[in-house]
Amino acid sequence: MTPYLDWSFYQDAGTGDAYADIPQTGGDFAKAVAVCIKSGLCETERRGVMCPSFRVAQERDLSTGGRVRLLKQALNGELGTLPFTDQALAKTMELCVGCKGCKRECENAVDMAMIKIEYLAQRQAIEGMSWRTRFFGQLADVFQRWPLLKKVPALHNSFTSFAWLNERLLGISRQAHLPEPAQHAFQRPSSSLDSDATEPREVVLLLDTFTRQFHPDNAYAAIQVLETAGYRVYISEAAPEDKQVLCCGRTQLAHGLVKEAKQHAQQMLDVLAPHVDAGRTIIGLEPACLLAVRDDYRFLGLGERADKVAAKAVLFEEFIAKETAAKRFKLTFQSLPATVLVHGHCHQKAVGAMKSMRKVLKQIPDLKFEFIEASCCGMAGSFGIEAEHAQMGQAMAELSLLPALRAQPDATVVANGFSCQHQIRQGSEHQPLHIAVLLRDALLSAEAQA
Ligand code: SF4
Ligand code: SF4
Repeated sequence: MTPYLDWSFYQDAGTGDAYADIPQTGGDFAKAVAVCIKSGLCETERRGVMCPSFRVAQERDLSTGGRVRLLKQALNGELGTLPFTDQALAKTMELCVGCKGCKRECENAVDMAMIKIEYLAQRQAIEGMSWRTRFFGQLADVFQRWPLLKKVPALHNSFTSFAWLNERLLGISRQAHLPEPAQHAFQRPSSSLDSDATEPREVVLLLDTFTRQFHPDNAYAAIQVLETAGYRVYISEAAPEDKQVLCCGRTQLAHGLVKEAKQHAQQMLDVLAPHVDAGRTIIGLEPACLLAVRDDYRFLGLGERADKVAAKAVLFEEFIAKETAAKRFKLTFQSLPATVLVHGHCHQKAVGAMKSMRKVLKQIPDLKFEFIEASCCGMAGSFGIEAEHAQMGQAMAELSLLPALRAQPDATVVANGFSCQHQIRQGSEHQPLHIAVLLRDALLSAEAQA
């Protein structure tokens, strides 16, 4: 096989005594698969995220290790001449939600989320691409180019017949409630930074597709918090004459569209690299998008420029926690009369960002908050609205997230992930907030900060 992703940093992986069975084909990709040491940890009951599909179904083939077993068979030629189309392999790989739980929690850091992307790309090369994959692959500019498509979610949600048609044509579950785009996409607000501020520190807000089109208020809140703290905020946008809608490419990657993701990533790097050269930190609001730039781009063979940008890319909460520790972020917040429940996006958990969430929430005086102990919410990008996966997605949410939310109906819910927020709205009465919005709500006026 010729891999679509760059697996070269696995070159020396899987060669010690513990690894007697690197598959016969697949090169460095096979080594990435073979780092599993068959400990069985992913098939035990435990806290953490790994592995949501196994937790629901209790089937060994649906654990991380189960996927490894089948992939090895495929790469050893035991699943026929077109192994990536094998039905058992397809079932288990489709039910991997790409949560990266295994990357953090598996003893040998099997990165099944990236392995799944390679698998999907290989399979699409044989079977072609579904209409649904095409649709999600174009999500970044679909509303920009065809504004009428903004009406589709409202039609789907209001008319049974349209939802039925969507299920038949696009494979989107008729039961799913689709997220509706904001009436007005993000527009850069005028700066509230004190014009007398001498040499303000400069940062760049990574404007992802979900924030731009669906939740622009998250960006407005983040800008307000950062400007009040004295930062000059640039926005990651292409020059107007380029007529491009900038997107990190995460959605394309998640659907196995590696070539398209790479094009988006190159455009993103064209915009971000000059900021990094100017010494600016890149701040992201949507965990999956920022972490695509930081972690996933290294699989795309994008060279040194991508590494430089990755080194300066941080999540909003990581940035505030770091800057506070360095005594550069000094804001005074007022207490909020709320009990806060926090649901972490799986990718936030995979990089240990929940520690930063805790540090930032502690800045709000007397705030009562607790973290929900849950695996994946089950939405996982588009997984929870896909017709054949919606039931599994719902079962994942019911494992612990939704019961925890129902137990505290009056709590304020903080969830930074776009898809987590959507799952929470779909399955409960809560209206979750991004942590940037909570901080803005607790912000004292700029005058009071002085
Ligand atoms: S926890 Fe990791 S190393 Fe252990 S069996 Fe599962 S995938 Fe393999
Ligand atoms: S990425 Fe998540 S769903 Fe996929 S194998 Fe790893 S833990 Fe399981």
